[in-house]
Amino acid sequence: MEKRQLVIIGSGPAGFTAAIYARRAGLETLILEDALWGGQVNNTEEIDNYPGIRTISGIDLASAMREHAQDLKAEMRNCRALSLSLEDDEKIIRTDKGDIAADAIIIATGATNSKAGFKGEDEFSGRGVSYCSVCDGPLYEGLPVAVIGGGNTAVEEADYLTHFASKVCIIHRREELRAGSMAAERAKANPKIEMILGWVPEEIIGEEMVRGIKLRNLKSGLKKEIPAEGVFVFVGTTPNAAFLQGSGIDVSGKGWIKTDEMMETSVEGVFAAGDVREKFLRQVVTAAGDGATAAMAAYEYISSQLYLKSTLFGPERAVALFISSIDSDHLALAKEAEDWAKSGGDRIITIDGHRNIRIRNKLGVQELPAIIEMRNGKKTREANPSSLDGIKNFCKR
Ligand SMILES: Cc1cc2nc3c(=O)[nH]c(=O)nc-3n(C[C@H](O)[C@H](O)[C@H](O)COP(=O)(O)OP(=O)(O)OC[C@H]3O[C@@H](n4cnc5c(N)ncnc54)[C@H](O)[C@@H]3O)c2cc1C
Repeated sequence: MEKRQLVIIGSGPAGFTAAIYARRAGLETLILEDALWGGQVNNTEEIDNYPGIRTISGIDLASAMREHAQDLKAEMRNCRALSLSLEDDEKIIRTDKGDIAADAIIIATGATNSKAGFKGEDEFSGRGVSYCSVCDGPLYEGLPVAVIGGGNTAVEEADYLTHFASKVCIIHRREELRAGSMAAERAKANPKIEMILGWVPEEIIGEEMVRGIKLRNLKSGLKKEIPAEGVFVFVGTTPNAAFLQGSGIDVSGKGWIKTDEMMETSVEGVFAAGDVREKFLRQVVTAAGDGATAAMAAYEYISSQLYLKSTLFGPERAVALFISSIDSDHLALAKEAEDWAKSGGDRIITIDGHRNIRIRNKLGVQELPAIIEMRNGKKTREANPSSLDGIKNFCKR
């Protein structure tokens, strides 16, 4: 089976940024992409909030990111990741074009906005129909807009839009909002927000750009038109993470991938970046930031794995001292052990057990400082020395 050090699934801003950082760190990197190189930005007319670039078309940003990764010799392949097999230390990506093994994986598969399904929704997307108020809200300064949806996101985004729009109509199919009481009360108290409950959007009015929207009352069948220069749809966003089912990676109730601050998922060596992960703000700049962190964390993971494989798990016999790098007594003990090794004592590998929780868990090391003996990749003995004499006694046996 073919193998790479790092495989990145998805080529949006998160995936491409990860590839750029990974290549600059010297990792052998393969990016898999199922659709358009560059991800969601390809559907964005203009991006006006990426620092340093006053305005750029989504397509231009996508191709600039691709060229950047290409120049750094990141390998790219058009294929779809179907599932991950993450048993023991072996990580395999099953794709529609064969299986690929990897030392580390970054999942950067983004998210998909659900459509409300009214006439003109696709046709006017980017010309008045939007799925992102942070991206497009400022375009509607002093103009009326409509928000479709009644959940928390819809209501909170409507509230945000009142900073720009002259009026925001929330259109929701039910007679009551689905949003939690606090968000709903805040929206109701906002004089710029009008609730149009029990109505559904039918069709966009406009020629070049959106000018309004036709609505239908679900009970009476009555129809009406309201003026709106922008129609913001918030009826749900789905993480592109269904292919992870059965992989053992922890996801939230709604399917977003859970990560720590290093972007690492619940499975060691598997990272997630960008819109697909559970996070506060889904934007190009945050996806890029996640990608950078994930790549450097993957680099650190791969190098420490290689180091541990060759020093701790590989040799016939190895001794390791686990200390806590935030404890000065532990640091002094590690220094004494190092000096003793230099003067002819046993070679001892020092591991920061405070940071390397996973390796500690793997080897069942609970209390620090701890010294362990490994034979042919298996732990054979453990002790908790408080002095150099304790270490010497352990090594003597
Ligand atoms: C209409 C619109 C306008 C926007 N405007 C702005 C804006 O102005 N400013 C801003 O900052 N943000 C904007 N955003 C949000 C921004 O585009 C996203 O936050 C960003 O693209 C997320 O990047 P990502 O890399 O996480 O995912 P994505 O860009 O979604 O990329 C994920 C990639 O993974 C691929 N993929 C998915 N599943 C698989 C699989 N199984 N195998 C292989 N490949 C797979 C997808 O095809 C896709 O190319 C906008 C979004 C939309 C939809």
